[in-house]
Amino acid sequence: MALAHAPADPSTLHDAVAAFVDDTVLPQVATWDAQDELPAAVLQRLVALGLTGALVPAGYGGAGLGVADLVPAWRALSQGWISLTGAVNPTGLAVALLVRHGTEAQRERWLPGIARGELLASFSITEPQAGSDLGRLETTARRRQGGGLILDGDKRWVAGGVSSDVIFLMAEVEGSQKPSCVILPAAGRGSASWTLEEIDKLGYRGVESAAYRFTAHAAPGAEVLGGDEDGLGAGARQMLDVLDVGRVNVACRALGIVDRALACALDESTGRAIGDGVLGDHTHAQLRVGELVARRAAVAALVDQAAAAVDARAGTARELSTAAKVVASDTAVWAVDRAARLAASRSFAAGDELARLRRDAPQTQIGEGANDALLMALAKPHLDP
Ligand SMILES: Cc1cc2nc3c(=O)[nH]c(=O)nc-3n(C[C@H](O)[C@H](O)[C@H](O)COP(=O)(O)OP(=O)(O)OC[C@H]3O[C@@H](n4cnc5c(N)ncnc54)[C@H](O)[C@@H]3O)c2cc1C
Repeated sequence: MALAHAPADPSTLHDAVAAFVDDTVLPQVATWDAQDELPAAVLQRLVALGLTGALVPAGYGGAGLGVADLVPAWRALSQGWISLTGAVNPTGLAVALLVRHGTEAQRERWLPGIARGELLASFSITEPQAGSDLGRLETTARRRQGGGLILDGDKRWVAGGVSSDVIFLMAEVEGSQKPSCVILPAAGRGSASWTLEEIDKLGYRGVESAAYRFTAHAAPGAEVLGGDEDGLGAGARQMLDVLDVGRVNVACRALGIVDRALACALDESTGRAIGDGVLGDHTHAQLRVGELVARRAAVAALVDQAAAAVDARAGTARELSTAAKVVASDTAVWAVDRAARLAASRSFAAGDELARLRRDAPQTQIGEGANDALLMALAKPHLDP
């Protein structure tokens, strides 16, 4: 894979991403979506732009950008295809895990390769019977003689999980009844003891969504994030902690969808002849566009506020990033519906952009936590201070 360094200047990164979206993504996204394919060359381009290594601190060879620096680039990428923004997300989560919770040896082992664009990561909590409810996770890891771990269990919805180089995976590791975050190198994936299936999806196509089954899978290179002393049993705390980064990424996906829904609504309003004029001459179209503009501005402001809190490691980071992801994703679903009312039948043709956005937008309501589960979590400290 090409060596990569994100431009240290966030506006240069944004401009490069926006140009890539205009030149390459928008002309081809309908084909990629129909074929359920995120071409390897496109993923490599995202890596070469520096999107996967941007959060790696300069001391480990990265650009050392913050989450707020990435918001404009993630939003621009999502105006092309949210699958691209989703594809770079797990590696960013891995960087945050290593920086916040890894041992120095673990940082040295993984961060320089991510910064150079040579390594991609996956992030795996979800199991067939457990998403929000971490108490129901069943994957376990025993100690392997000679080092490493032996894994048993099922994982589901592992983004990038077919070709990533390393998986940060929640499992109950021998020695603690609470889950740990296991760093699992991908060697052995696709063998009889670590089987792999791809999940076919409604939208958010092109992103590898893997289901794994481990059957006494021996992983000599696997270890606990943070080491046994600090990391054993700390996986829930560590992995939920970095989801504030992921929730801003998902909120940016939703914001990019709102941007495109507004663009579609404007195209319809100005280009669709109705009576003696165009659709936009009519009050109902003006109200739809005005409401899209207003809600987009509100979501964008909330996303910026959340990103700043995440970078500052502020006490409000969890609440703001969760609120941003929930409000942005519900707004994305709403925005596509509003724009589709103006486009009517044209939004129902299979290759139409609004048809794809209608399938893509719900992913943002589920990824990084189901919205209703997150709303209940947001309510808890207020109801029970
Ligand atoms: C396209 C896609 C990509 C994904 N990528 C990844 C990935 O890379 N890595 C990963 O680990 N996961 C991934 N996920 C999984 C995603 O994070 C989970 O789907 C999400 O966390 C919700 O979990 P769940 O689907 O099991 O639903 P649940 O959490 O089981 O929710 C089902 C229902 O139960 C409700 N509920 C949940 N908790 C409670 C509660 N305590 N009390 C009452 N009601 C409750 C919810 O509100 C919801 O209505 C992905 C999912 C999708 C669709």
